[in-house]
Amino acid sequence: KLHNELQELKGNIRVYCRIRPFLPGQKERQSTIEYVGENGQLIIANPAKQGKESHKSFKFNKVYSQAATQVEVFSDTRPLIQSVLDGYNVCIFAYGQTGSGKTYTMTGPDRASEEEWGVNYRALNNLFRISQNRKSTFSYEISVQMVEIYNEQVRDLLSIPDASMYPVKATADVLHLMDVGLKNRAKSSTALNERSSRSHSIVSIHVRGVDQKTRSSMHSSLHLVDLAGSERVDRSEVTGDRLKEAQHINKSLSALGDVISALAQKSPHIPYRNSKLTQVLQSSLGGNAKTLMFVQLNPEASSFSESLSTLKFAERAS
Ligand code: ADP
Ligand code: MG
Repeated sequence: KLHNELQELKGNIRVYCRIRPFLPGQKERQSTIEYVGENGQLIIANPAKQGKESHKSFKFNKVYSQAATQVEVFSDTRPLIQSVLDGYNVCIFAYGQTGSGKTYTMTGPDRASEEEWGVNYRALNNLFRISQNRKSTFSYEISVQMVEIYNEQVRDLLSIPDASMYPVKATADVLHLMDVGLKNRAKSSTALNERSSRSHSIVSIHVRGVDQKTRSSMHSSLHLVDLAGSERVDRSEVTGDRLKEAQHINKSLSALGDVISALAQKSPHIPYRNSKLTQVLQSSLGGNAKTLMFVQLNPEASSFSESLSTLKFAERAS
C-alpha cells in the first residue's frame, strides 16, 4: 500500500515533518505545536499573537508527534530504500534549525544502541538484508562515500589517498566507516567551534547490480543528507568568518529550496548550478529520482518564528 502511495507522489517529492520532544532538564515547556493530525496536518501557534492571526496550518505527507520512535519513522522510509535496489536514485534530507533533531533522525543519538539508530544505519542494514534475500538473479555491490560541504568546499570525510568510495559487505563495515567519518568531522569542530551545525554532511551509497544470467547491470545511489542549521543569523551580530559561513549556508539552502520547488512545479529549468550542495546531489534530485525531506521542528514557543520559516521552506516542496 505504501508503495502505491509513493508512486502517486507529485514529482516524487515527499515531505515528512518531525517534532522533537522537550528534552529532560529543559526549562521552557511552552509549546508552539497546536495540533498534529494523522492525515499530515500540523497547526502551530504564535505565542505573541491572539485570534485568527495566531495560528498557521500546514499539510505534509506525514507529521510525527514527539512520541514517534526511530522504528516508526523508518517504517515510512523503508519503501524508498527498497526502490534503490530497483534502480532508482534516492535522496533523503533533514532540514531544520540547529537543535531540532536533524542528526537524531539521520544518525541517532548513540550508535551503540540499535533501538535508537537513525535512518542512515537502518537504510544500510536494510539494503544489505534485501540484497542478500532477494530471489533474483541480480547480485549487488554496495559502496559508501562520506563528504562534508563547508563554505562551498567539498571535503572527503573518509579520505585515504586515492579512494573516496569504499566497498562494504555488511553493516559492521558501514559502522566502522561512519565512525571514521564522524571522527574526521569532529576534528574540525574544535578548530571552528561546533562546525557540524554549519556544514552539510552527506553519506552516499552507491549500488551496482549485475544480472548473473544476462550480465546486464544497473547503477543507483542513495544520498543521506544532514543539512547545516537553517537558523537565520543576525547580520548585525556576526562578522568575519561567521558571516561568511552564514552567507554560504544561506546560499546553499536557498539553492536547494529553488531546486526542489522547481521540481515540484515540474519546471523545465532546474537551477542545479547555484550551489555545491545541489551540484553534488544533482543525479539524485529530479528525473526518476525520489526525494524525501524530513522537516525538523523544535517545539518550544520561543522557536515559533524559526519553525514558521522552516515550514514555509518545506511548503515550497510539497
Ligand atoms: P540538530 O542535528 O538538528 O542540531 P540534534 O539531532 O542534535 O539536532 O538534536 C538536539 C537534541 O535533541 C539532542 O540532544 C538529541 O538527542 C535530542 N533529540 C532530537 N530529536 C529527538 C527525539 N525525537 N527524541 C529524543 N531526543 C531527541
Ligand atoms: Mg546536527
